[in-house]
Amino acid sequence: MRNISIQALALALVVTGATSRGAGQTGTGETVIQKATEQFENSPLKTTSLGEGMFMFSGDGGNVTAIVDDGNTLLIDSGIDSRVTELSEAIVKATMRPVTQLVNTHWHFDHIGGNVFFGSEGVSIIAQENVKKRLLSVQDVLANYGSAHTDGDTVIYIAPANVVVVGDIFSNHFYPIIDLASGGSIDGMIHSIDQILAQSDERTKIVPGHGPVATRADLQDYRDMLAQVRQRIQALIASGKTIEEAVAAAPTKDFDNKWGGGYVFPDVFTEMAFSSLVGNGASH
Ligand SMILES: [Zn+2]
Repeated sequence: MRNISIQALALALVVTGATSRGAGQTGTGETVIQKATEQFENSPLKTTSLGEGMFMFSGDGGNVTAIVDDGNTLLIDSGIDSRVTELSEAIVKATMRPVTQLVNTHWHFDHIGGNVFFGSEGVSIIAQENVKKRLLSVQDVLANYGSAHTDGDTVIYIAPANVVVVGDIFSNHFYPIIDLASGGSIDGMIHSIDQILAQSDERTKIVPGHGPVATRADLQDYRDMLAQVRQRIQALIASGKTIEEAVAAAPTKDFDNKWGGGYVFPDVFTEMAFSSLVGNGASH
């Protein structure tokens, strides 16, 4: 299962991996996956209460959110497959009941790894279009703002609790993966973030795909970083620079202290943003 999933992500990242390094070094796409997987397998699993019967579980892949209401426990995402037993136990401990239903923000291996396990336990895994009518209260909204991190990103608003689960459109706080081969783009990410900002207020709890629970100000900060890097790379493209020259120009330099500490290195992020802006990567 994990091999297939990693293979899928590796395929998705093949564009970013195109730049091979010196002798003995792997392509950037492969490095990102290795780094991320190592982190997901070795980080402690942490439970954070979001209030109103909601919990976030982090460390075992993308963030996992559990929402308890009368008869149901809805899970949003399911981490990586090798840690699903541990995740399941942490969920039962926090919510005092088993998961009944599961939805995914998008299809990447670190967000769907537990689906097979939960499916085998009788949990209904619900397709995006069915969630609204079958599961959430009328006040809750499931949204898709077009291609962003991938071409199938789901944003889930839990209105009564003023919580929004945004998946990998937002990494708090490190450079994101833009999955170009799956139809993702930097402009799409900025567009989606603008919609989420418009639906949020200063008390909204924003659950990112990775990293701690964030505020609207954190998301705004991330949006501003993306927009500035985008503008700089666009200028480099306009002046005829190649992708290697753009990386050498270090357009993310003054942001690297804050955003460069994750598994997406600054040069990898620059390559993804560059490819997105010149229209490479839309290979499907
Ligand atoms: Zn993802």
